[in-house]
Amino acid sequence: MEMRTRSCDSEEKHHDWDPISELEKKKKGIQIEGYQIEGLSIAGHETCVILPSLSLAFDIGKCPQRAISQQYLFISHGHMDHIGGLPMYVATRGLYRMKPPTIIVPAAIKENVEKLFEVHRAIDHSELAHKLIGLNVGEEFYVRKDLKVKAFRTYHGIPSQGYVIYSIKQKLKQEYTGLPGNEIKNLKSSGVEITYTISSPEVAFTGDTMSDFIVDDTNTDVLRAKILIMESTYVNNLSTVEDARDYGHTHLSEIVSYADRFENKAILLIHFSARYKLEEIQNAISAVPPPLAGRVFTTYRRFLMNKVVSNYITHLFSLSFTCEMNRSC
Ligand SMILES: [Zn+2]
Ligand SMILES: [Zn+2]
Repeated sequence: MEMRTRSCDSEEKHHDWDPISELEKKKKGIQIEGYQIEGLSIAGHETCVILPSLSLAFDIGKCPQRAISQQYLFISHGHMDHIGGLPMYVATRGLYRMKPPTIIVPAAIKENVEKLFEVHRAIDHSELAHKLIGLNVGEEFYVRKDLKVKAFRTYHGIPSQGYVIYSIKQKLKQEYTGLPGNEIKNLKSSGVEITYTISSPEVAFTGDTMSDFIVDDTNTDVLRAKILIMESTYVNNLSTVEDARDYGHTHLSEIVSYADRFENKAILLIHFSARYKLEEIQNAISAVPPPLAGRVFTTYRRFLMNKVVSNYITHLFSLSFTCEMNRSC
């Protein structure tokens, strides 16, 4: 962030042009299974996936503008293309006097993330107010009473994890259905547990990982979530499965070979290598056979996922770079 005094910050806030609200007016994205999803993802460059209706983002990339208005941020791992914009995210929310964000990171990197903020505070004397939570695989964080997020195991060479969002509903126990309202009310006030809880996996986000997460028995909910947002860094025979594994990533051919395991209604593929031309990705995706065909989809534009192929959408965050970047990301 630029050096500014507090009073300058206030002036900035009351400036006529507010880029965040401007962006709010121009909401972009697509609806998948009832969720609007926005984002951008290019391996080695930037990955940030946003669910505005839940006010949360998975990974922050370089901190795209639309991420700033999200209250919750879930970081999958510490590679720069996933976490690089973190101080900017917190600083910009502070600049606009937004509520300090809640940031969830793998517990193994929490201490270093704290140090990162300390360094920035030492450099610019800013507050960088936020709440940082370290989550281990299997642990849950309640975003709301009716919404929780659980970390799941991924395989990427450095500490990493994915996240599953669950909706939580209370249902009346069968023995009480049909009772008059006042009887139910009386039972409840007398301390009888009249409801039970149903948790449904809605959206899963893998971050970077080898395909091993697919066959991990503890990850069944990941493959049952309505929407699975997963990486597919490599898509054709320019790279082999072995190459993908060497760099801790997944090859599309592995997704195809595990096709029977995916119960998801939609699979959103992200994090394609910058080496591919758009056409190569489109060709690879369109060649995906049943039972995945039609459930995997694509759009070419970076922040706008606006090409719905069918009800079961498949998706491809785009790419425009051709350089060979650090593939270990
Ligand atoms: Zn990456
Ligand atoms: Zn990575």
